[in-house]
Amino acid sequence: MSKATLAVLLSRLKRFEKPKTHLEQYPTPSEAAATILWDAAQRGLIQGKQVVDLGAGTGILGLGALLLGAKQVTFVEIDQEASNLIEENRQLLTKLTDQEQGTITILTADVLKNPLKLTADLVVSNPPFGTKHKHADTAFLTAACAIAPEVYSFHKTSTDEHLRNAIAKEGFHPIQTFPFTFSLGATMRHHEKKAHPVTITCWHIAKDL
Ligand code: SAH
Repeated sequence: MSKATLAVLLSRLKRFEKPKTHLEQYPTPSEAAATILWDAAQRGLIQGKQVVDLGAGTGILGLGALLLGAKQVTFVEIDQEASNLIEENRQLLTKLTDQEQGTITILTADVLKNPLKLTADLVVSNPPFGTKHKHADTAFLTAACAIAPEVYSFHKTSTDEHLRNAIAKEGFHPIQTFPFTFSLGATMRHHEKKAHPVTITCWHIAKDL
């Protein structure tokens, strides 16, 4: 599979019908998802590996990992409607591709409340940015670092300095950062009139040796 094919397949996935503002539900743009997943795959972090998608929403990140050959993907999402969407999207991809895929588990759970006790090779996450629940972004990061030695996580670029400290505190270090611009206005109801671009950094971090 090429990166372009991956991006096209991910662009076909169903989006949130009525995004829930209090949960900061917005879909990861398919190009951004394809870019970071492709990078992870090139680094040997996906093929045959166990992957966890935290705050999985539509499932785009975890399903992309599945397309790139992950052995097992666990999706953690608080919202039952979104969890149903992940299952629908999984079936959609099975129809669109003929390829044999790994197994999935969908956990409808709060990433921040229950210790998840998951272990994996890689965590991919586009978490809430902490606009509604203060520090949800760094709390997700802490949860991610407890699960896997390699993490890709999207954050507002305005929090870069803060994030850098939070990453060091977890005993992790940055490998690479990927800059993106998300248009949040298109999907978040309270912004609907004014689509506004938000600059985003996806951090690839790894556990210190
Ligand atoms: N990566 C997904 C969703 C990004 S939006 C996609 O691109 O489709 C963030 C997601 O985190 C939303 O689906 C929201 O419902 C979920 N979420 C918010 N708070 C959560 C929590 N405490 N535990 C688990 N999931 C949560």
